[in-house]
Amino acid sequence: MGQKILVVEDNELNLKLFCDLLRAHAYVAEPVRDGREAIATARAFVPDLIVMDIQMPHITGLELIEQIKADEELRPIPIMAVTAYAAKGDEERIRDAGAEGYVSKPISVLKFVGAVRALLDAAAARATAEAGSEDPETEEAAAPEGETAPEEIGDDDQDGDAPARDVT
Ligand code: MN
Repeated sequence: MGQKILVVEDNELNLKLFCDLLRAHAYVAEPVRDGREAIATARAFVPDLIVMDIQMPHITGLELIEQIKADEELRPIPIMAVTAYAAKGDEERIRDAGAEGYVSKPISVLKFVGAVRALLDAAAARATAEAGSEDPETEEAAAPEGETAPEEIGDDDQDGDAPARDVT
């Protein structure tokens, strides 16, 4: 079974886009439309990664990231924030809240998938290091920085780069 990714996103179009994209890359995607259900669903689903929208009604992604990172059980799960915020300092605020990765909307399909993969690889390397096995020579596989996520030349998916979407 593929790695499991929880997708927390109030916008239906984005939620479908992210889940379709992840499933096309053999991940198991679990959608959460209401941020108030994110914590309970994370406990039940036990994801390998959480994709977190920031702008949501009822509870913001920033608040959810802080709650997750304050939770003994959920803390190790890497979080990739996805946000339409473009203001200076927003990425820093998101990282301060505890998110390991950050991608801005409208997303680039290649950057989105590349960032997901980088975070999962980094988490796997951490787990290996903690298990005391092989030398983790994967320092550079750490969380991707904003727009500098690895490009995937020759990725074999057929969906190409999606058109820009302005929804949040
Ligand atoms: Mn939103």
